[in-house]
Amino acid sequence: MKPSHLILDRDGVLNREARGGGWILSPAQWRWLPGARTALRRLRRAGVRVSVTTNQSCIGRGLATTHEIDAVHRQMKDECLEAGGRIDAVFVCPHAPGDGCDCRKPRPGLIVQALSAAGLEAGASLLVGDDRRDLEAGLAAGVRVALVRTGKGERTAADLPTAGIPIYDNLLAAVSALLGEASDSVSPE
Ligand SMILES: [Zn+2]
Repeated sequence: MKPSHLILDRDGVLNREARGGGWILSPAQWRWLPGARTALRRLRRAGVRVSVTTNQSCIGRGLATTHEIDAVHRQMKDECLEAGGRIDAVFVCPHAPGDGCDCRKPRPGLIVQALSAAGLEAGASLLVGDDRRDLEAGLAAGVRVALVRTGKGERTAADLPTAGIPIYDNLLAAVSALLGEASDSVSPE
């Protein structure tokens, strides 16, 4: 069934991960992955709501302020709009791993927030991530999940939390399949 709401992880799905496993701390560090903005444009054309969920423990660790991470997301949303797409909402876990929050993935809090804001049943939503903890968070919230091979995806493909999770080369391939379009008709930017 075609989802009416896609819940996307950020780093490794929409943009390149920071070098050396660090964090994207300013808009200047942002690099879109190939095809990601095309995928977002297709989702908008198809009327699919888009939520982004992201662990940003850099805030809890004192490496960035909420304001600085908001600036990264403002640019992300603006550049998405310029490309003809739309990110409807961004959900951030600002906590450090030891804080015991319920929103740091693999816990389901961010996914539950995204479902609540969308006002849609879990069954109408689908999560796309590259990290095992994204998939675990989605499954814990009762939504369907898909893996992309970008980011940490290749490693995650060898260590899936459950059988039967579809795997796509990247977000554009995932979106093309979910929307029922032939991927060979797609020309990424
Ligand atoms: Zn949290």
